[in-house]
Amino acid sequence: MGDNGVKQTRRQFLSACAIGTAGMALGTGVPAQMEQKKCTIERIELFPVRFPTVMRFKFLESPKGATGRASVMIKVTADDGTVGWGESIPSQRWSYETLESAVSTLDHYLIPVLIGMDPFDLDAIHAAMNREIGPGFSTGAPITKAGIDFALHDLIGKSLGRNLAELWDRTTPETLTLSWTLNPVTLDEVEPLIEKGQAQGFRHFNVKVGPDPEFDIEMCRIVKRLVPDGFLWGDANGGYDLETALAVAPKYADIGMDVFEQPIRANQLTGYQALKRQGALPIIMDEGVVSPEDLNTFIALGCCDGVAMKPCRCGGLVSARTQIEILQDRGLLFLGSGLTEPDISLAASIILYGAYDLKSPAALNGPQFLGTSVLSNPFKPVDGAIRIPKGPGLGIQVDESAVMTLVKQSKATV
Ligand SMILES: [Mg+2]
Repeated sequence: MGDNGVKQTRRQFLSACAIGTAGMALGTGVPAQMEQKKCTIERIELFPVRFPTVMRFKFLESPKGATGRASVMIKVTADDGTVGWGESIPSQRWSYETLESAVSTLDHYLIPVLIGMDPFDLDAIHAAMNREIGPGFSTGAPITKAGIDFALHDLIGKSLGRNLAELWDRTTPETLTLSWTLNPVTLDEVEPLIEKGQAQGFRHFNVKVGPDPEFDIEMCRIVKRLVPDGFLWGDANGGYDLETALAVAPKYADIGMDVFEQPIRANQLTGYQALKRQGALPIIMDEGVVSPEDLNTFIALGCCDGVAMKPCRCGGLVSARTQIEILQDRGLLFLGSGLTEPDISLAASIILYGAYDLKSPAALNGPQFLGTSVLSNPFKPVDGAIRIPKGPGLGIQVDESAVMTLVKQSKATV
């Protein structure tokens, strides 16, 4: 991002958006009539925590057991006093970023170059971050950088008195439908877990599969029997080898699975081509899609039918919006997902998916798995749907005393 060597004026950017040049959609997208305020980033504070969990989830465990959901909450203050909140949410069993690496990356490399910059100039912000932490295969440390991106979007919105969706010249519905995540250890657990979700009004289920195909197929049969009309979304998180993935895909199709996400490891591109060619189910990518360039390449190579979007995985909202526009322009599937987000990252995802007219249930399972909130008005799903914040920026009010309480509670594990 920001490395295409093309600097756009705000007007050029807006006209590029208007004609759907999605690959160029860097920048805030603030409509021209909303004049940005002149300010600079004065202070960036970090609050590393672990949100306690209320149910088992394999990605929130470590050698020490269930250690909670890591988060580095980020408070950015501009020199005019405007504040924006963001959040980096590493999950070391999902990708290589950790709570400790996020804090050290922010402290030693990103914050020093961001102080004094214009918070409205997201092109320059991302270019600076990408210069300090270089790429691997794709954008380096994208989960860490997403926290800064969220905080600046919140700050811009707060400064202008506009919700994120309004900054993008879009509207959002009142609520977003969610799916319930099933991550059972034994088949006996499947029915009670479904009942638990149904008791809270959930009607759609995201099933964690891989690596045991026999267990997985039986689990999916049970889910389809108990929830025949629900959207059944299988996610292997790269847990199968290609041979197994090719063998199970037609069986999942017979059972009635709707989409098959990340069947194999992200770097097995010829394997993705084979799965897409097989055509048993729509093949969805997640882990490997970080920047818009990655997505364009995977599409050109015929690797996928769509993407499970996650702004927290993509370096933030600038990248995620561009990718959604690419998917929509190409008529590919845009699914909404997450990394078991706590409050702040959750707000960013909810507004993004609402603003871009997400058609299928969003796999945002933070409210399912996490036991506390730092918001004055916590998100609570009702009838399997969650309210979309309408206020300025991310539309949330962070309770700083709750943040400090969680920081203290987390000290033993941070
Ligand atoms: Mg996934």
